[in-house]
Amino acid sequence: MIAYLERVSIPEPNNNEDDDVSLLRNSLEDLQLQGSIDYGPTGSASKDFGGMQITKPLAVIRPAGAEDIAKVIKLASRLPNLTVAARGNGHSINGQAMADRGLVIDMKSMESYNKIEVRRHPPCADVGGGALWADVLKCCVPFGLAPRSWTDYLDLTVGGTLSNAGVSGQAFRYGPQTENVTELEVVTGKGEIVTCTRNENSQLFFSVLGGLGQFGIITRARVLLQPSPQMVRWIRVVYSEFSEFTRDAELLVSQEEGGESFDYVEGFVFVNSDDPVNGWASVQLDPNHPFDPAGIPTSAGPVLYCLELVLHHRENDRPSSVNLVVDRLLGQLRFCKKLRFEVDLKYVEFLSRVKVAEQQAKANGIWDAPHPWLNLFVSKRDIADFDRLVFNTILQHGIGGPILVYPLLRSKWDSRASVVLPEGDIFYLVALLRFSPPYPKGPPAEDLVAQNRRILHCCTRNGLDFKLYLPHYKSQDEWEQHFGDQWTRFKDRKACFDPLAILAPGQKIFPRNHHHHHHQS
Ligand code: FAD
Repeated sequence: MIAYLERVSIPEPNNNEDDDVSLLRNSLEDLQLQGSIDYGPTGSASKDFGGMQITKPLAVIRPAGAEDIAKVIKLASRLPNLTVAARGNGHSINGQAMADRGLVIDMKSMESYNKIEVRRHPPCADVGGGALWADVLKCCVPFGLAPRSWTDYLDLTVGGTLSNAGVSGQAFRYGPQTENVTELEVVTGKGEIVTCTRNENSQLFFSVLGGLGQFGIITRARVLLQPSPQMVRWIRVVYSEFSEFTRDAELLVSQEEGGESFDYVEGFVFVNSDDPVNGWASVQLDPNHPFDPAGIPTSAGPVLYCLELVLHHRENDRPSSVNLVVDRLLGQLRFCKKLRFEVDLKYVEFLSRVKVAEQQAKANGIWDAPHPWLNLFVSKRDIADFDRLVFNTILQHGIGGPILVYPLLRSKWDSRASVVLPEGDIFYLVALLRFSPPYPKGPPAEDLVAQNRRILHCCTRNGLDFKLYLPHYKSQDEWEQHFGDQWTRFKDRKACFDPLAILAPGQKIFPRNHHHHHHQS
């Protein structure tokens, strides 16, 4: 059972509505789509990874390609109140990929359209918007190539992450995934199929990147590739002082590309105790090298910090030469010298590291429990306050899952894209990736949602400069605040590309506009 339902909407048995539904059915059948339509129990399309909301669509479309999607959007524009939500892998938390009594487009189902074509000169891959990043990786590696910028977890769709940003430990160097695509095919809210780049239809290109699905449905993307690394040295080093942790993290992400530097920089907070989930054991990489708490300075507080670093290398590099580079790079840092952990593994295994955690979590029911996650970008100016007020106070006992915190460079984010960031050259990604057993074994999800709210209130009250990543708001006022001085641009983009507000209704930014073509009404 889902313990917490934010919004349950079950269609009322009402004759007018039945008429509407049968009219919709007839209209959909008239479109003669190449793909298929499912009116039946809409199952997974009414749920998401967050597991806190059930919202039923009227039908789920499994399109064959962009043409089908264009037809469906054009139909929606002729019918009053009908909305259309692209659904990637449904890994949203708060119903963002849902459509209340609307149409859900199952992007992952476009199998042949989602095919992945790898090109060598210049190295790039043409991929479907519903393709999973895990499949992109699988197709690129045989060519000795791989995308440059990732998410931590790869069972997310290309269109889904590009609609937000797509961030992981490579983003300090290459920017988020939105900075690593050069061409998109988009079906706009007017049902037009448009190819766009930085130079051609650039307004649409930048609108949809980080655009929360508001302007068009991304049906294809050209993803930049690099020669695939073969091996990685995966390293974790521990800090007791937040100021030293941030100093070192900022130093590492600011190092010039081309010079000697790590290829991946992330960090996390953990609890200074033997708690099996939140504590010391969450740091070790090799069971043969356990965490020795004797290495923690006596001055340490209730939480500790860990920098997670990766250096790419080749299979036939001598271990001693890899060690030399690692030692040189770590030599500049101020971590607790006895708390250093490292392993070598294949690049693909490293990128697939969360899959292993998923399998474990699935086995004990934690994967399918509600996930009241919270993701923030916090300005460097305020990250020490955030540490004091949130990590060391509200969250000092952990969250039953990873608490990520690592710096990103604003210069790597094109300001023309739709995503909003805090001020300053450096900001931190903070991710509260809660994994609690389902209630009653774990806390009720609404308590965790309340804790998230407390964190946000605390940040606002103390004047911290932050923005939600993967944002979720219920009123347009809140959205307006979120976008700040970019609200006008965002609204103008909506008016231009989806004037009737048909797309991605689950974001709750713009209500469906009732105007429709006179000759159809
Ligand atoms: P969905 O949840 O299906 O959709 C998200 C939104 O985009 C919806 O509004 C939907 O309507 C819209 N949309 C979907 N497809 C398209 C399309 N083709 N065109 C236009 N709009 C579309 N994010 C990171 O940045 N870094 C991480 O490391 C990371 N790790 C994660 C790990 C896990 C276990 C989970 C569950 C999520 C993680 N995320 C991460 C968040 C992830 O990027 C978002 O959930 C994102 O929405 C992608 O998921 P999806 O493909 O399932 O999209």
